[in-house]
Amino acid sequence: MQQVRNVKAMQRWALGMKKNGTTVALVPTMGYLHPGHTSLIQRARRKVGNEGKVVVSIYVNPTQFGPNEDFGAYPRDLKRDLDICRKEGVDVVFLPDDASMYPGKDSGHFSTYVEESQLSQSMEGGTRPTHFKGVTTIVTKLFMLTLPEFAVFGAKDYQQSAIIRRMTKDLNLPVRIIVAPTVREPDGLAMSSRNAYLTPEQRAQATILIDILKAAKRKVQASSSQTGLKTVTLKKQLEQAIQRCPLARLDYIAFFDPDTLDPLSTVRQGSHMALAVYFGTTRLIDNIRL
Ligand code: AMP
Repeated sequence: MQQVRNVKAMQRWALGMKKNGTTVALVPTMGYLHPGHTSLIQRARRKVGNEGKVVVSIYVNPTQFGPNEDFGAYPRDLKRDLDICRKEGVDVVFLPDDASMYPGKDSGHFSTYVEESQLSQSMEGGTRPTHFKGVTTIVTKLFMLTLPEFAVFGAKDYQQSAIIRRMTKDLNLPVRIIVAPTVREPDGLAMSSRNAYLTPEQRAQATILIDILKAAKRKVQASSSQTGLKTVTLKKQLEQAIQRCPLARLDYIAFFDPDTLDPLSTVRQGSHMALAVYFGTTRLIDNIRL
């Protein structure tokens, strides 16, 4: 397994792969890898086969964190991450640093960003206004540096995957976006590097996210497919359930069209639901197709 830290070396490698016709799949991550990430790596391998190459990028991207968010505290364990990548048969781990990803930023001489302006306004974008600008910028840069035919993202970050699909289409980027299902703990909590922040009491109550999503799905499936369910009514019931969970504080619940992310006043089977819940300062997100 190769480790590449230099951006020029990464791009040279990628151009070499293009030249000799080797297919590349990229899995972008911020590290502190868990089975959610390894499922993406395995999906990437299935797409390119043994002849192709799987690149995993590990980079905690500063521009997708807001000023009061957890950039400094974000968990990091490179040695463990490299062991996991080796075990998964990854070909290249790309480990860029801030100075090469954002050249001149410290002296105010970095000024080009990629911004999606519709899908990124609601939900995560409502609470984290600069988050997706950081995501679309770094993902574009990673695409340019690794020149993948496939890039694999997780359904856990549903809005992110929709924005990246839209960006790829809008900008004619020659990358096929693959979205892999959410990997969960045995009790249903979506795996996340941020779960490491939870106290044992918070961790025990964090199953409220999947409980609420499943409750909503049951209600929608029991409703008439003709009339569906009024979003306001459903939302109120779910909000009350979260209020009964002492350590949880709701950020948002949203019901939306799975492709356009447009909010829905009536929810039916096939509609999508997402939510964000705080436990102390830790913010967890999850989503489900209803
Ligand atoms: P992160 O390292 O949190 O930025 O995530 C890197 C990629 O892994 C993103 O595409 C995430 O959507 C995906 N991912 C994170 N957690 C999970 C999970 N539990 N199941 C599937 N994919 C995930």
